[in-house]
Amino acid sequence: CAKEEGKKGYKIYKEEMYIKKIEFINMKKSLRYGVKNEEFFLTYQSVVDLKKDQAIGSEALIRWNHPKKGLISPDRFIPIAEKTGIIKEIGKWVLETACKQNKIWIDKGYKPTKISINMSALEFKQINFVSNIKRVLEETGLDSKYLVIEITENIVLENLNQTIEILNELKKMKIKIALDDFGTGYSSLNYLRILPIDFLKLDKTFINNVTKKCKDRAITESLIKLAHDIGLKVVAEGIETEEQYHYLKNINCDLGQGYLFNRPLPSNEFEKILEKGLPFFAQNKDNKN
Ligand code: C2E
Ligand code: MG
Ligand code: MG
Ligand code: MG
Repeated sequence: CAKEEGKKGYKIYKEEMYIKKIEFINMKKSLRYGVKNEEFFLTYQSVVDLKKDQAIGSEALIRWNHPKKGLISPDRFIPIAEKTGIIKEIGKWVLETACKQNKIWIDKGYKPTKISINMSALEFKQINFVSNIKRVLEETGLDSKYLVIEITENIVLENLNQTIEILNELKKMKIKIALDDFGTGYSSLNYLRILPIDFLKLDKTFINNVTKKCKDRAITESLIKLAHDIGLKVVAEGIETEEQYHYLKNINCDLGQGYLFNRPLPSNEFEKILEKGLPFFAQNKDNKN
């Protein structure tokens, strides 16, 4: 009986694997097609200076508008784009589109803000990574001081020395660097010591409970202090409530992002936020009324 159960389990396992494989192949095909068919678009979320209550930047976050399946979030397709290498094409498009968009906003006369772009390990490791960024900055005319590159520990883990070299080249170009999702992976303090980064982004899993759980509070406060002591600015991700906002402001967190300020918005809607140009939090309150 046990043997039969085992066989059955194996059969189910094999079927599941088969379905997963088919799904993967289909996704790969439609991703390729999606790139050609221009099915992707960027949304933008404000990065808010918590001291001045003003947006000092935005993060570009990709969305896939699938003709049949509708909107697909990056958590679902970026991992497949990474496995298949399609991320190189997607990443190139993201970089070009976001830089171009930021330059348009600056040229329109809105207060210049930085644009943050997420990088995958595969993009980062391409031999022409730095020269490609240079080219895009030249072609779009965006000043490099308005560009922030967001990296994760995955990138660092693969090749520490190479990562440091590339980051130093970006620094020479006056591009800023953020370490994203800090606190979710290995979060080695050693990285903070040796990586030439400017911003530390505290993952939203900390921020979720920062007003409720004393351990999360202790870790957040200590990390902010540590980051400041070594010259980094801290960005809190996923601020959803006024309570979290006031708390983070009080403990000297420099910057914040979250649904409280705005959800990631397509460029035309984000532009309305730039147009108002009021102190940020007040502006958001206006929107709610
Ligand atoms: P991330 O870079 O850590 O981006 C933050 C994520 O948190 C975004 O999810 C954003 O929409 C979400 N978020 C922002 N504020 C709040 C909040 O108050 N509450 C909650 N619950 N969530 C909030 P999104 O847009 O689904 O992106 C997920 C991840 O996909 C990103 O995480 C990033 O790692 C990756 N990604 C997005 N766009 C790109 C891209 O253009 N290239 C690459 N390589 N990766 C990207
Ligand atoms: Mg990010
Ligand atoms: Mg993050
Ligand atoms: Mg993330």
